[in-house]
Amino acid sequence: MLNEETKNTLEQAHLDFISTVSHELRTPLTSIRGFADTLLSSYDRLTPEQRNKFLHIIKDQSNRLINLVENLLTVSKMQSNKDLFIYKMTDVVPFVDAAMQMIKNQYKTHKYIFNYEKNLPKILVDTDKFQQIMLNLIDNASKYSMEGSTVTINAGQNFKDNMLNISVKDEGMGINEDDIKKIFNKFSRIDSPLTRKIQGNGLGLYITKTLVEKMNGKINVKSSSHGSEFTVSFKAANPDEDAVRKIKE
Ligand code: ADP
Repeated sequence: MLNEETKNTLEQAHLDFISTVSHELRTPLTSIRGFADTLLSSYDRLTPEQRNKFLHIIKDQSNRLINLVENLLTVSKMQSNKDLFIYKMTDVVPFVDAAMQMIKNQYKTHKYIFNYEKNLPKILVDTDKFQQIMLNLIDNASKYSMEGSTVTINAGQNFKDNMLNISVKDEGMGINEDDIKKIFNKFSRIDSPLTRKIQGNGLGLYITKTLVEKMNGKINVKSSSHGSEFTVSFKAANPDEDAVRKIKE
């Protein structure tokens, strides 16, 4: 049974969550309604450039809403523990590469480098969720760095602790030490003139960390004014285990 104090704290957390979500929904919705109203009431008085600009704002804000709703559904699934993990012995290289190609398509001026050691061990993960982790980290590395800068991904084995490490490094604005403690919290965004211009809802790293830890991995971050590096680590699978699994399958 929950005591009264725990119940009140949970209720407060629930109310805070509803209030943050409502605010996150209201901002893009207000903007969509405002620009749609202007287009409807003043269509003939607007230049083609203005119409085009307003339609693009409506599209961007709709995308923002879709991202938010998708992230909220992921969070709700994770918290209800209904999220099914289908574990497979996975060679990470094609999944990292596919995530990198997807992001590369969205950031045409960035450069992407993927270095990986030969004969990397496999890891036991849910491949869709592993790819989601990589997409979030590579997307952030691109989003929070300047056009034309380089995002470097390294995958290597640490033999000492038998882990496979995958790091995503950018040349962006960096995160200061106090803020690093907050970025993995739900809805946490770092407020600065630079980040304010970049769209996001502060759920990506919360989802990323939760998925990594549910799959028994670890996530670490190092950052300076020259950029940030996020590293995820998973236990390297023993090749013999893999062979035994194959025989059994
Ligand atoms: P979002 O990007 O949607 O705001 P995230 O949870 O992915 O949410 O990230 C939380 C915050 O952490 C971001 O708002 C940003 O301030 C900071 N952040 C994340 N990744 C980076 C990065 N690679 N470089 C600098 N800041 C970052």
